[in-house]
Amino acid sequence: MVLRTRADLRAALDAMPRPIGLVPTMGWLHDGHGALIRQARAENATVVVTVFVNPRQFNVAADYTKYPRNEARDLAVIAAEGVDLVWAPPVDEVYPTGFDTVVSVGAVAGPLEGAARPGHFDGVATVVAILFSLVGADRAYFGQKDAQQVMVIRQMARDLAIGTSVVACPTIREADGLALSSRNVHLTPAERAAAPVLHAALAAARNAWSGGERSGGALRSAMQAILHREPLATVEYVSIAHGRTLAELDVVDGPALASLAVRFGGTRLIDNEILDESPGADDRRRP
Ligand code: AMP
Repeated sequence: MVLRTRADLRAALDAMPRPIGLVPTMGWLHDGHGALIRQARAENATVVVTVFVNPRQFNVAADYTKYPRNEARDLAVIAAEGVDLVWAPPVDEVYPTGFDTVVSVGAVAGPLEGAARPGHFDGVATVVAILFSLVGADRAYFGQKDAQQVMVIRQMARDLAIGTSVVACPTIREADGLALSSRNVHLTPAERAAAPVLHAALAAARNAWSGGERSGGALRSAMQAILHREPLATVEYVSIAHGRTLAELDVVDGPALASLAVRFGGTRLIDNEILDESPGADDRRRP
């Protein structure tokens, strides 16, 4: 059932059994979203999916306008996954007239995507706070592909005492390593063929790290060397950052996040890989 208003969503939720799992999306669903929905389905009595292209998290207006949308297609995907409730609101239902609050997370929202896309995480934290508050879910499911987003949302939920636990799910990839993303649809065939270079660069960092390399600079250089071989790729950043604070590391002496943002023409792609040798880290990364 597709619901449009806050009131209809709340009324429908009243009748649903707990625990409730929430999967927030911006639509143009792919199997990365499918994996989140399936994990939510396995762990909850009720699954709620939201489809909302959130204008406040786009720092470039043209990016919002050209973001791919196709509700009929999304609803077909959602129906196939056995979702209980779908909330696909218009913008003025999420941000009614007079709406005047910004949820702004601190340090962890500052570097990487926060620096590259000013205001982006304010928009994310604000809309997710609204969704958490409206749905009152027991768990909410997010992709590790947007690793910093998971950290920002965890911080927000903890600080605002919202009782929804944030579950991070593994990144789903194409056979050639490209992380699934709604934005991949904008790639030209040549750009699509070049795009697995993100994954190749992360693999180079992981291999160097597995071989004992602990210099942040050397690991960043390993990623840059791979990316520079691809003429269609314009590198925005490569990062080897502390796993909790996201501060850039000179020396990797604990869990770290290797991440990067790369442009192909007008399409911006991000990806990341966790570098963590603590016991059980590999198991925790698996679905
Ligand atoms: P989006 O619709 O792009 O805002 O993404 C909605 C949710 O799906 C976010 O939690 C994303 O991190 C997650 N997601 C997007 N792509 C993938 C992927 N390839 N694998 C796993 N999760 C993903």
